[in-house]
Amino acid sequence: MTSSELVGIISIHDEAFRKELFEAASEVRKLHYGNDVYVRGLIEFTNHCRNNCLYCGIRAGNTLVERYRLTPEQILSCCEDGYQTGYRTFVLQGGEDVGYTPIQIASLVSSIKERYPECAVTLSVGEYSKEVYRLWKDAGADRYLLRHETADATHYGMLHPKNLTLANRIRCLYDLKELDYQVGCGFMVGSPFQTPDHLAKDLAFLKEFKPHMVGIGPFIPHKDTPFAHQPGGTLELTLTMVALTRLLLPDVLLPATTALGSIHPTGRELGILAGANVCMPNLSPEDVRDKYTLYNNKLHTGAESARALSELSSRMESIGYRVVTHRGDHISKRSRKE
Ligand code: SAM
Repeated sequence: MTSSELVGIISIHDEAFRKELFEAASEVRKLHYGNDVYVRGLIEFTNHCRNNCLYCGIRAGNTLVERYRLTPEQILSCCEDGYQTGYRTFVLQGGEDVGYTPIQIASLVSSIKERYPECAVTLSVGEYSKEVYRLWKDAGADRYLLRHETADATHYGMLHPKNLTLANRIRCLYDLKELDYQVGCGFMVGSPFQTPDHLAKDLAFLKEFKPHMVGIGPFIPHKDTPFAHQPGGTLELTLTMVALTRLLLPDVLLPATTALGSIHPTGRELGILAGANVCMPNLSPEDVRDKYTLYNNKLHTGAESARALSELSSRMESIGYRVVTHRGDHISKRSRKE
């Protein structure tokens, strides 16, 4: 498909067309993953961040955030809780927190892998050197999530301060791939100044980079950021981008993101029906969940992990899907047992 054809599809506002697109995407995901929905236990372990991304509620410049940093013991206790509930992937996500050194993160990863050797550990802690990524891989990390945010360098510059560049983001993604991580990139839909051309560029980048995972969620404004008064991304366009991503990368791991669940009561179900196949419920301690506020009205059920998982399972069953709790690796990285 050419770039102008993609821009055409992205710009269509026809309900019937969209329905067909979602059905086609759903069929493609079924070929690879049947009706299975993989779950990952998300641990938002720090909201300290050295960066000042203009859209993000935990940006360094936001002095109104109450900062927290979980200790390794607290993180291990979240993993234990998640393990008992059935999770076999733990995602450690946070701001770029200088209070956690690369060596401390490596030792955290090794502790998790020692206790739960059959579980996958995903890191999502931002931009580091290849050597640091290697240290974490050697410690046992399996996967890394680092959204590229937008594949257009000028647009990237409108969303980030000058010290952050698309070129470095892309360098990180290729380094991670070379180190044999399962790598996730991704982008926000409806971020300020975004055009259909930018979204077509995002898809072209996905096709070229061939990530194992893609995180796509609507931009949602946060009141204490420079983008407080910008409009948020829509449900319709986000679902369209999820479906197109499934069609472009048939076996990719594609989450129905928290942001999607935050803008619509059944956003995650709609994401699954548009081609997504992963959900990432929150395993963070309940008292810190409302401090990891990337955007306003962020979904958090407040339920402890076991109840949250059983609620998610019923929601997925209601649309004909089933939650499975194995590691859920990308097809190209599976051991024969799965
Ligand atoms: N620091 C790590 C990084 O940069 O990849 C991980 C944490 S970062 C907060 C996770 C993702 O949250 C970002 O990649 C961004 O796409 C998303 N995000 C941040 N602010 C957002 C907003 N206002 N609306 C929607 N998504 C947002």
